Amino acid sequence: MLLTVLGTATPYPRPDEPCSGYLLQSGAAGSQDAGRTAARSTGRTTVWIDAGTGTLAELQRHISLAELDAIWISHRHADHSADLLVAYYALRFADPALRPAAPIPLIGPEGLLDRLAAFLGPNAVDELPRVFDFHPMSGFGDARFGDLQLSWGPVQHGVPAFGLAVDEPQPAAGTRRFAYSGDSAPCLSLEEIGENADLLLVESGYATDPSADADAQRTPAAHHTPEDAGRTATAARASRLVLTHLADGLTAPDAASRAAGYFTGLVEVAVGGAHLDV
Ligand SMILES: [Zn+2]
Ligand SMILES: [Zn+2]
Repeated sequence: MLLTVLGTATPYPRPDEPCSGYLLQSGAAGSQDAGRTAARSTGRTTVWIDAGTGTLAELQRHISLAELDAIWISHRHADHSADLLVAYYALRFADPALRPAAPIPLIGPEGLLDRLAAFLGPNAVDELPRVFDFHPMSGFGDARFGDLQLSWGPVQHGVPAFGLAVDEPQPAAGTRRFAYSGDSAPCLSLEEIGENADLLLVESGYATDPSADADAQRTPAAHHTPEDAGRTATAARASRLVLTHLADGLTAPDAASRAAGYFTGLVEVAVGGAHLDV
């Protein structure tokens, strides 16, 4: 598989740094070169994972909206979902070439479509299903698109939120697994979702452990620190940890070295525009 980082910023975009979004495309590592250098994918199954602010623009550097096989949204926070609003405009009202032949499967937390409709206006309740084929997530579930087998489960974030695993069988290398925390505090469910992942993408939305702060102790944790991310990757027996969605105050080298204290595999930090082989 090929993972393309569209953006990682939290909780709002900065110049050249969109919020959370990724493209995951099927294909063996050895055949990735075309995907890295050419804008268009050919014959790959393509899933847009999280549609944070600014990611729709970045997505178009790599593929056309018309090439999407599915969209998967971890949770309803705007830094993971707001570009669905403008994706709807693109698919419904812009260039006719972008209109999908069939509604694009959109997997997201229950109620997501109603929230989009509430923002877009009364007509959108009937119009949204013309472009999005909504599949609500309420617990553990799975779906297959082309070469990619998606499975998800609830994680801990204070709102309904989900982690994702994507498996792709490869003839010579067995099944490859990509897994993603979405936004989540450390939890058993995420360790299961990430089990034996070849690449585990984990947020680090906390610079420091909030349990050290007496006021914060009253609310359950909602994010990982870098140390938490290292522990989650170890518990999941992942091969490789990629940190993302770094809290203000965390630099990439600092986050990576803190996580590496709790995980012996490769640790990297996601950067917008990067292509990572899974
Ligand atoms: Zn969130
Ligand atoms: Zn977030």
